[in-house]
Amino acid sequence: EAKRAGRDCARYFLNTMNQALDQRLEIETALRHALACNALQLHYQPKLSLPENQLVGVEALLRWKDEQRGWIPPDRFIPVAEESGLIGALDAWVMEQACAQLARWRAEGVDVPSMSVNVSPLRFHQDDVAAHASSLLVRHGLSAGDLTLEVTERVMLDDDSRPREQLQKLHAMGVGVSVDDFGTGYSSLSYLKRLPVTEIKLDKSFVRDLELDQDDRALASAVIGIGRALGMTVVAEGVETDGQRQLLQHMGCDVAQGYFFARPQAAPDLVAWVTARRAQPTG
Ligand code: C2E
Ligand code: MG
Ligand code: MG
Ligand code: MG
Repeated sequence: EAKRAGRDCARYFLNTMNQALDQRLEIETALRHALACNALQLHYQPKLSLPENQLVGVEALLRWKDEQRGWIPPDRFIPVAEESGLIGALDAWVMEQACAQLARWRAEGVDVPSMSVNVSPLRFHQDDVAAHASSLLVRHGLSAGDLTLEVTERVMLDDDSRPREQLQKLHAMGVGVSVDDFGTGYSSLSYLKRLPVTEIKLDKSFVRDLELDQDDRALASAVIGIGRALGMTVVAEGVETDGQRQLLQHMGCDVAQGYFFARPQAAPDLVAWVTARRAQPTG
């Protein structure tokens, strides 16, 4: 009886595993298709200065609506793209689209000061990201300061020196280098020394309970202090309430981003948001 239960259990495990693999392969195939057929799009979320509440830039966030499956969140398909090697092409497409969009806004007189793009650490092993960024900036008539690349601490996890060399090249060009999800990874502090970082983004898990949790307030305040002491811009992500905004502002946080200010939105909606604010400068 026990033996049979064990066998059933093993079969259940294998079935579940096969289903997971099937699902992964299915997502991978659909994602390749979406990339080839231009079925992906970017949404843009504002970054605002504290306390002035000025737009300092937007972050491009990838969106995928599959015909059968509906909206698929990046947290589900980015890992699949990373495992399958598709991430290089995907992130290259995002960088290209984001730069093209910023150039179009500039031509149309829409005042978006800068563009931030997420780049998977894996892309630095596949491509010359610095060379790609440099050619994109020239092609779209942008300056290096118009672009910031957001990378997570995972970029420093292995011994390969290529990611660091490329980030150094980007930094020397004047492109912003931002550490995303700061505080959730490993070796946070030592690698702020080794990387040419211009910005750190306090992870939203530290922001969520800021009004309730004294420990989170202490951690947020410490991160802001470190960033400022090192001359970096500190951005708080996931700001959802005015209370969080006020606390972060008092702690000396430079920039905030989150649903309290604006959700990530398609380009036309972002333009409407920017235009409405200009008509009402106190907003
Ligand atoms: P991230 O770069 O840390 O982006 C912040 C995430 O928080 C976004 O989720 C954004 O929609 C969400 N967010 C913004 N404001 C708030 C808020 O007030 N509250 C809450 N709860 N969430 C907020 P999203 O768009 O689902 O993206 C998830 C992650 O997927 C990103 O985290 C980034 O790591 C990755 N990602 C998105 N687009 C790309 C891309 O083009 N390339 C790569 N490599 N990764 C991407
Ligand atoms: Mg990001
Ligand atoms: Mg983040
Ligand atoms: Mg994140």
